[in-house]
Amino acid sequence: MIIAVDGPAASGKGTLARRLASHYGFAYLDTGALYRAVARDVRAANRNLRDEAAAEEAARNLDAETLKDPFLRDRGVGEAASIVARFPMVREALRDYQRSFARRKPGAVLDGRDIGTVVCPDADVKLYVTAGLEERARRRFHELRAKNFEVTRAEILEQIRKRDERDKGRDASPLTRAPDAYLLDTTDLDIEAAFKSAVELIDEIIDS
Ligand code: C5P
Repeated sequence: MIIAVDGPAASGKGTLARRLASHYGFAYLDTGALYRAVARDVRAANRNLRDEAAAEEAARNLDAETLKDPFLRDRGVGEAASIVARFPMVREALRDYQRSFARRKPGAVLDGRDIGTVVCPDADVKLYVTAGLEERARRRFHELRAKNFEVTRAEILEQIRKRDERDKGRDASPLTRAPDAYLLDTTDLDIEAAFKSAVELIDEIIDS
């Protein structure tokens, strides 16, 4: 069984996807970490993030063992990831890994931007998780402050706005809701409520 969870930055999709994976005993893949790791590796090689050949090379040589690197969650890395994620060759290089992960038994939960649309268009369950921009900026601000990063709310809001624009506006696999994805707006929902409503939907699909 494959559960695809897509949505914009700081929508709560990662927390929800992780909870669902643990609830159903499924494998979990944070596909954003793949793009973050490519950005990290391009920089580590002293190449430019806008250099497509360098990004493709980093994607082809990506070591999946490094995806838990805490640096990937640092401020600025999400934005760097969205720069390399625009390149079709980078996306293609990461696709097979994601698709073979999705085939894990008894099931897998993948979260990202294009899981329900491109990586796993035949996923059994598709969720599109979103929340208002202000609320997402508020969440990301608290997350970064908890890690002692010196950031302002306005700065975070602007970064998320720019990232939304880049992810939705690119030609290669833009962020968009698959027509058959269930919309979960978490603006006024805490994680418990979002989790409960996703489980109800998934259980219905499993029982049908
Ligand atoms: O989800 P996360 O914020 O970690 O993703 C970082 C960036 O990686 C996104 O802004 C997006 O540009 C890119 N990404 C993507 N496709 C995915 C997952 C992430 O393009 N499936």
